[in-house]
Amino acid sequence: PLSTTDLIEEHRICVCVRKRPLNKKELTIRDLDVITIPSKDVVMVHEPKQKVDLTRYLENQTFRFDYAFDDSTTNEMVYRFTARPLVETIFERGMATCFAYGQTGSGKTHTMGGDFSGKNQDCSKGIYALAARDVFVMLKKPCHKKLDLQVYATFFEIYSGKVFDLLNGKAKLRVLEDGKQQVQVVGLHERDVKCTEDVLKLIEVGNSCRTSGQTSANAHSSRSHAVFQIILRRKGKMHGKFSLIDLAGNERGADTSSADRQTRLEGAEINKSLLALKECIRALGRNKPHTPFRASKLTQVLRDSFIGENSRTCMVSSSLVTARGHQSIPSRSVKELTVD
Ligand code: ADP
Ligand code: MG
Repeated sequence: PLSTTDLIEEHRICVCVRKRPLNKKELTIRDLDVITIPSKDVVMVHEPKQKVDLTRYLENQTFRFDYAFDDSTTNEMVYRFTARPLVETIFERGMATCFAYGQTGSGKTHTMGGDFSGKNQDCSKGIYALAARDVFVMLKKPCHKKLDLQVYATFFEIYSGKVFDLLNGKAKLRVLEDGKQQVQVVGLHERDVKCTEDVLKLIEVGNSCRTSGQTSANAHSSRSHAVFQIILRRKGKMHGKFSLIDLAGNERGADTSSADRQTRLEGAEINKSLLALKECIRALGRNKPHTPFRASKLTQVLRDSFIGENSRTCMVSSSLVTARGHQSIPSRSVKELTVD
């Protein structure tokens, strides 16, 4: 049988879906679970493009993904099939990108950052940390050791088209494009990291910075994209970069249904950036010469991840699982869903 790496090797893009378990509130009100993932055993899937049944608005709809993870799947398992095969890419002078995509409350932050919900926060089980762990494992391989690579990490947020450094008290940063079309986030703190523990500390710092001052746990952070990057440098020069992105909630109707202007503007900005992202990923998949990365701040800062010869992307799409979740229109109902 093929290894997971072989399976994904031929594809520069891997798209999968993850279903989260119903939460206490959904169970209490006996909300209807509307997503069926036929095969329980993801490991046994040798044929890509699994079928997923998403019953929306009581209409039967089936979608196909490279992988489908049911609600019993752990982060470690999701990681193994999605981001893990991309760790190699950055050692081969490539650009790797992993996105978590989905509506607010569907489990993006849980997948990427780990468990931030309870009192005992644990970011060691998120894809950020798991990827960092394997970067340090790979670094010890003799073939990589002799390259003398240094590892750095950055963590920033893009909110309403503006960039903020999560490792430097949310300092607002400027994005500049130089004459050689290189995009720079000016003044972004790149932290020197020597081990997984160093990275875990940064994730904690960045995450508390991201959520500080928010009235509700999901208010601001669900409206922003969080970008965590692991950068390999050799003699100061970039060797490879892994960008792991917890995208803003893609709630439908966010720009039209809400009453206040600020929320409408945020919604419009999010839609714009997600659309730009879709276009860039499409261009990457088809090896198109033109990548429309300037259409949003998100795609602009990820420019080098889209245009490189050796660029690979995976998208972990999480889905709201219940009938009410799917039928709800953002702001109020999404908030209800996410507050257990
Ligand atoms: P998002 O970032 O997409 O808004 P979260 O990651 O914050 O969503 O998830 C919403 C809630 O569901 C959180 O309380 C989170 O802990 C929980 N959750 C999400 N995915 C899972 C999962 N796979 N297993 C258990 N709990 C989960
Ligand atoms: Mg989130």
